[in-house]
Amino acid sequence: MRVVQKFGGSSVADAASIKRVARRIVATQSEGNEVVVVISAMGDTTDELMDLAQQVSPDPPPRELDMLLTAGERMSAALLSMAIADIGSSARSFTGSQAGIITTGTHGDARIIDITPGRIVSALDEGDIVIVAGFQGVSQTSKDVTTLGRGASDTTAVALAAALGADYCEIYTDVDGVFTADPRIVPTARRIPEIRYDEMLEMAACGAKILHLRCVEYARRENVPVHVRSSFSHRPGTWVRDAEPSEGEPMEQALISGIAHDRGEAKITVVGVPDRVGVAARLFRTVADAEINVDMIVQNVSHTLGRTDISFTIPQSAGSRTIEILKAIQAELGFERLLYDDQIGKVSVIGVGMRTHPGVTATFFGALADAEVNIEMISTSEIRISVVVHSDDVDRAVKAAHTAFSLDAEGEAVVYAGTGR
Ligand code: ADP
Ligand code: ASP
Ligand code: MG
Repeated sequence: MRVVQKFGGSSVADAASIKRVARRIVATQSEGNEVVVVISAMGDTTDELMDLAQQVSPDPPPRELDMLLTAGERMSAALLSMAIADIGSSARSFTGSQAGIITTGTHGDARIIDITPGRIVSALDEGDIVIVAGFQGVSQTSKDVTTLGRGASDTTAVALAAALGADYCEIYTDVDGVFTADPRIVPTARRIPEIRYDEMLEMAACGAKILHLRCVEYARRENVPVHVRSSFSHRPGTWVRDAEPSEGEPMEQALISGIAHDRGEAKITVVGVPDRVGVAARLFRTVADAEINVDMIVQNVSHTLGRTDISFTIPQSAGSRTIEILKAIQAELGFERLLYDDQIGKVSVIGVGMRTHPGVTATFFGALADAEVNIEMISTSEIRISVVVHSDDVDRAVKAAHTAFSLDAEGEAVVYAGTGR
């Protein structure tokens, strides 16, 4: 078999962990597999490098930030390769660029355009284990080093698995798989043995950072089976894949597959917008042209005649930029003022089963009311209900929803490592 294994930062936080992971990789090879490993930076290295950059410049040039951050993965790749050599196997480390990962030129958020894995394939042919530095590539146009976004080593792994025709992709992390909620918040969360791409996509999109969103998109498009599991145990994890219709009985579909939360968004309220045709279009066109993703939108009828308030959420990282570009069109649009609130969190209930089941919303909102959580915004899709609440209420809301949908289980959710940063 040909296997791609990805190890997250908490699995390689120090020298001892790197040696432990090296033994695990060599064991996979000894079972007769060709192994390609994607590795993240050690522990919280990426955050520490970001902090360091902030100390020398509050607004570092994105190109240089990518040069800096990619160094984290380069370090762990080389160290892992050394640790493997030390136990008598042969490994070769590659940067994203050397591995043939060609991307767009958007620093900090580049997308993979193509993979030319020639050097990986030759190394495998020569019997080596291949180690690839995660979350990075090289821009097709500028030839500069790029990064694919925070948490994107998952995406590197699945993209490589697809390009190399691997049988499956293993994502090793600090919990035993995908749970019905973040085990750091809900210790009674239940491991999901198998989840379909659609539901995993929705979980990831709603902030469950166990898998990077684009990694799930990639896996679904290329039909790569993904096994999410712990590098600290040998327990089976979660298989992300679509069940074969030929595999006998259809999978029993749970009503709710899980609760996800996201603390990464901020809410902007545009107060006193003239209630005229075309104003909302102009507002959101401006935001979109700046490549800022808007998530939820609510328009309220305002107290003042002929005016409304429009609230929407965006990534916190785009907060000051959004305020700036909106101020620039304030006179033209004629709104009164802007409010900015980053003390919010989004809590989402996800499940394909809710399509055919009335009452999910009522149960969710009832649970929030009993937990005395105030709802600030609401949005829904066919398989999801999301609310925005105050950031202090996020944990309480997640726990309440988890219990209300009877997802609690006994003591399965172990968090082995990591700081949750
Ligand atoms: P890695 O460093 O291995 O990439 P991450 O920190 O990115 O690990 O992702 C693993 C973390 O995701 C877990 O420690 C857990 O706190 C968090 N998480 C959030 N939602 C879930 C979920 N539904 N199931 C499992 N883990 C989750
Ligand atoms: N080290 C990078 C990050 O922390 C990429 C990753 O770990 O997936 O975002
Ligand atoms: Mg991750």
